[in-house]
Amino acid sequence: MPRLLEMSPVQLQSWCQDQGLARYRAGQVRRWVFGRRAAGFAEMTDLPRALRNRLEQTLVLFTTEVLAHRRADDGTEKLLLELADGARTECVLLRDERHHRTACVSTQVGCGMGCAFCASGLDGLVRNLSAGEIVEQLLRIARLLDRSERLSHVVVMGMGEPLANLENLFSALKTATAPDGLGIGARRVTISTVGLPKGIRRLAEQHAPYHLAVSLHAPDDRLRGELVPAGRGVPIASILAAADSYFAKTGRRVTYEYVLLGGLNDAPTQARALQHLLRGRPAMVNVIPFNPVPGLPFRTPASDDTARFVELLRQGGLNAQVRSRKGEGIDAACGQLRRRHLRAPAGLDG
Ligand code: SAH
Repeated sequence: MPRLLEMSPVQLQSWCQDQGLARYRAGQVRRWVFGRRAAGFAEMTDLPRALRNRLEQTLVLFTTEVLAHRRADDGTEKLLLELADGARTECVLLRDERHHRTACVSTQVGCGMGCAFCASGLDGLVRNLSAGEIVEQLLRIARLLDRSERLSHVVVMGMGEPLANLENLFSALKTATAPDGLGIGARRVTISTVGLPKGIRRLAEQHAPYHLAVSLHAPDDRLRGELVPAGRGVPIASILAAADSYFAKTGRRVTYEYVLLGGLNDAPTQARALQHLLRGRPAMVNVIPFNPVPGLPFRTPASDDTARFVELLRQGGLNAQVRSRKGEGIDAACGQLRRRHLRAPAGLDG
């Protein structure tokens, strides 16, 4: 059966026509799905009952099943989803004091980048998510909100490397940002990449002011190659050049992410090297203290050391901050919940 969430508005219209339905039904159905967070055709009460039944038999809306749903004290919620083929993925809802409601979504099952400290890539890449599967995560998250809340932001920081699944990501983000889709402004969408220069350039060609975050994690190529194997053969200089051209094209300041690993990349000399590297760029640095992953030999630096690292960056005139941690106790970091469920049968601790 065809899947509604894989269709553009025009494709849905022509599907309706092929079925002998009026074209305006496409708009009606989309308003129910994206505006009113309907989870099934049965809920679309202003459609004739016969039509609702027919849609249910001929068109698929949701293709995933919620295997686990967790909620942390700070309002963070996490879903483990099972896809139609049995693969699993994760998405997260983040709430903050400014009433931002942010969906963090995955773009792949597993990840092929192999970052040494990351849970998502430990078992390699399984497959890309389709555009509809990415959109479905947004809808599942939107459905967790109260009536008074609105999904305001999207961060593409879940499992997978977004720029390794560009076409599906672009098409999902079109739905996320379309006024008759989820209506989230492109400026409120952040795409985090391991740093693929070609992908960054392709992203710039979209002419959409998405916010770009680049995972740097080391101030020199040698250490970066150890922490981010996908970066071997991709000099930091070439990543920065691509990010600079992203800024030139979109006017959006680029954020650099830096996972702080105790004893590895958190020395004052490394802070100074990072500061030299980014000096003069309209950049922002997000320092992320390592979120422990069972079985991985890295250490979260003491908060004093983290603060000192950030202070050194600031002294050099850089914009830098520590990214606050959310979702404590619910395996909110990318790939963690899926891994737990690979080891324990689903549902036991969800
Ligand atoms: N593939 C994308 C998205 C990854 S998730 C990328 O590489 O940017 C978003 C950020 O979390 C990345 O910077 C990633 O390196 C970081 N991250 C992954 N595992 C982490 C961990 N255990 N602790 C802290 N940050 C982590």
